[in-house]
Amino acid sequence: MAKIILTGDRPTGRLHVGHYVGSLKRRVELQNSGAFDKIFIMIADAQALTDNADNPEKIRQNIIEVALDYLACGLDPEKTTIFIQSQVPELTELSFYYMNLVTVSRLQRNPTVKNEIQMRNFETSIPVGFFTYPISQAADITAFRATTVPVGEDQLPMIEQAREIVRKFNQVYGETLVEPEAVIPENVTCQRLPGTDGKAKMSKSLGNCIYLADTAEELKQKVMSMYTDPNHIRVSDPGCVEGNTVFTYLDAFCKDEHFKKYLSEYENLDALKEHYQKGGLGDVKIKRFLNAVLEEELAPIRERRLAWGKRIPEIYELLRKGSMEAQATAAQTLADVRRAMRINYFEDAALIKEQTERYQG
Ligand code: ATP
Ligand code: MG
Repeated sequence: MAKIILTGDRPTGRLHVGHYVGSLKRRVELQNSGAFDKIFIMIADAQALTDNADNPEKIRQNIIEVALDYLACGLDPEKTTIFIQSQVPELTELSFYYMNLVTVSRLQRNPTVKNEIQMRNFETSIPVGFFTYPISQAADITAFRATTVPVGEDQLPMIEQAREIVRKFNQVYGETLVEPEAVIPENVTCQRLPGTDGKAKMSKSLGNCIYLADTAEELKQKVMSMYTDPNHIRVSDPGCVEGNTVFTYLDAFCKDEHFKKYLSEYENLDALKEHYQKGGLGDVKIKRFLNAVLEEELAPIRERRLAWGKRIPEIYELLRKGSMEAQATAAQTLADVRRAMRINYFEDAALIKEQTERYQG
């Protein structure tokens, strides 16, 4: 069976370092590994509209921002098909058929949907489109026969729901769809990077992000004002590393080499943590170190982003081509789905023959 990746992001804002460690970085590694037959990366504008229906301009403006972030991180349009969800109408049709295979109570049980409804204060005023987005996500994944979906940990319930839809479809209509598997980062911290405010998740909607597009000054300012241990008041006080965002980010980003380069009096992160816990290590020092580590990772991304920023029409052209290719692939799956569901009336000669004979008596 072909090894195929599908994943994507909502164009609700620029991408941040949570996206980067949670999914983007892995995508680029998988792309460059050469181990996959096909890679599709989707800018999920239709999904973004499910909770931004009254603000289409925001979605429209952010398509290019997400595309720039992709290219800046090293997604290569020669190896990866980057496309825009709304330009593939087959996805909507697939979602419509899958809706018959999922119950309302199953959707209500989806922990990610539950959490996101709460976060957006939707309660009972939740748009139907938003409520059913796990179904549309199953359509996105299966339309490309994806075997592998690199995502952050918050997406695991979505992939589980997609797998259920595939099994149900295949059981009712015959073996047609491919069951996908999620790939989440091995580093636990990267599975769900907290925000700079120490809140559970860095998220565009919560305004606690370090963006890939941030300048060196913005990055530094965000790092220097990051949440640490509120009880660590004097340098001599013992500090806590658990729940201390600076250490969480170091867990996600720092490697032993960084110590040799920027903080040679410590051998590794464990030694730094030990000193902090004992007391005598100030927040400013660990923040400066984190800033150096992040700057090393983000500076090349920032530079590539600026360079791509001078080629906007070219980016729209590659998105257009990518969307056409994605549409052709999805159309093939949809034809299989229609055949399996027996709604392919006009290509079903046997059906017409049988009914002709019946009526001719
Ligand atoms: P929104 O607030 O609009 O939902 P978001 O920041 O949650 O935006 P999405 O576009 O929903 O971003 O997520 C895109 C991908 O990035 C998903 O695979 C998700 O799991 C991953 N991701 C998002 N935030 C984080 C994070 N803080 N840590 C790790 N992965 C993340
Ligand atoms: Mg999200």
